[in-house]
Amino acid sequence: METTTYPKAVIVIFGATGDLAKRKLYPSIHRLFNNNQIGDEFAVIGVARRPWTNDLFREKVKESIQTPITTDEEIDSFTSHFYYHPFDVTDKSSFQDLMSLMNDLDGQYRTEGNRMFYLAMAPEFFGTIAQNIQEYGLKETNGWTRLVIEKPFGHNFESAKKLNDELREAFDEKQIYRIDHYLGKEMVQNIEVIRFANAIFEHLWNNRFISNIQITSSELLGVEDRGKYYESSGALRDMVQNHMLQMVALLAMEPPIKLTTDEVRSEKVKALRSIRPLTKQSTFDHFVRGQYGKGEIEEEHVDGYREDPNVDSESNTETFVAGKIMIDNYRWAGVPFYIRTGKRMKEKLTKIVVEFKDLPMNLYNNGSGKKQTNLLVIHIQPDEGITLHLNAKQSDGTRTIIPIQLDYCNNCINGINTPEAYEKLIYDCMNGDATNFTHWDEVALSWQFVDTISKAWESQKAEFPNYTSGSMGPDDADKLLEKDGFNWW
Ligand code: NAP
Repeated sequence: METTTYPKAVIVIFGATGDLAKRKLYPSIHRLFNNNQIGDEFAVIGVARRPWTNDLFREKVKESIQTPITTDEEIDSFTSHFYYHPFDVTDKSSFQDLMSLMNDLDGQYRTEGNRMFYLAMAPEFFGTIAQNIQEYGLKETNGWTRLVIEKPFGHNFESAKKLNDELREAFDEKQIYRIDHYLGKEMVQNIEVIRFANAIFEHLWNNRFISNIQITSSELLGVEDRGKYYESSGALRDMVQNHMLQMVALLAMEPPIKLTTDEVRSEKVKALRSIRPLTKQSTFDHFVRGQYGKGEIEEEHVDGYREDPNVDSESNTETFVAGKIMIDNYRWAGVPFYIRTGKRMKEKLTKIVVEFKDLPMNLYNNGSGKKQTNLLVIHIQPDEGITLHLNAKQSDGTRTIIPIQLDYCNNCINGINTPEAYEKLIYDCMNGDATNFTHWDEVALSWQFVDTISKAWESQKAEFPNYTSGSMGPDDADKLLEKDGFNWW
């Protein structure tokens, strides 16, 4: 009889009473358990200051689970793996107690000394926690030790480097798993497959056949109750430095020679290194910032960003960024990658549009004299799938063509079974697969690119607000493409 080998580990979640743990981590671990991807050889220790008991913690974990539960026995058997250990992470001596609890659970759950430390806390604690883990010997084990950290990874290159240096005093690069949850999304992971497993795309994936690539990630929501955090971040740091540039790297990279972590990351790093650096002047030519004013979303009035009680009434923080990125290598010379992301926009979606060049001699048009461009649209969220925009014959005896669309909808088929990004990333980390986590080199290159933009913007006050809530951003974002003869799709 075949036996399944499950990943085994004691997982310590720092920030166990927080929003991320409740909304993402517990439901994801439960889905892994429910889908039989992890067995019984795991335990979770929750750390935070609130004086909860094991019972209360298990109750909270139970409340956070969204999957329909069949029986109480099943859910109790899952939550019985959870233990709560309250302490302030700045209190060094508590790490000693944490170690004995880990050792006990290691024996009880036969986790072979494997340890995952998940820092679901504000980044100012990362260095302290990592150093205490090191100092109190929590890494001294026969199994593996991995550290998972969340964004924001620094505020600029300098602070990111300082943070990285602190982490590296305690952990090797190979032990550090930096989460960019976009890399856990099904269709972001599918970019490589669409490109490298389909001859009809990869052969055309270059400046001879592609005119431009557009990445849009728009949100309906404003900053909600995160105004204070957002004031020191803005869309550039919150979205562009990480998620948007990661998608650019996946679209622009060369095919790796193997699908190993090192090979994939090395190609992504090369793509990021090929991005043309900006100057202050080219920042103003190639990047547009925006901030939402009041408007209407789904027929309801909404306030502008500056009206938020946690936000400066003269705030210069951008809630929208559009930009043109040029990649100076043989494959992409001359092809703009346009990115656009913002809050309080017309719809919530993330998609990539690859626009192909027209044929050298296309004799057909759609009746209005216009050519119909071929597009490959990769829908990341909420829809997951691809649409190919082609041309076909109109059945009226004329030479007029009509646009047709070939659709593949991933979440229509998989339905609710499409794994959550966090679920996949936690599973990957337990299995030691760091491919879909960001390497320090990627973080560093992304910050260096973004820092020029933030410095240029800080040198000049913007005329905000400059877009209405419920729109697709400021007019200048449209003009950015119009100047090049394109439009947003
Ligand atoms: P949060 O709701 O504010 O939770 C922070 C957690 O840290 C709480 O459990 C808090 O518990 C604990 N904590 C704070 N100070 C502590 C201390 N001195 N010692 C021990 N525990 C302490 O924050 P969050 O939204 O979960 O975010 C956590 C991290 O993930 C942040 O870096 C955030 O930027 C990042 N992130 C969050 C999301 C999200 O969806 N929420 C998404 C992406 C990234 P006590 O008050 O009980 O101590």
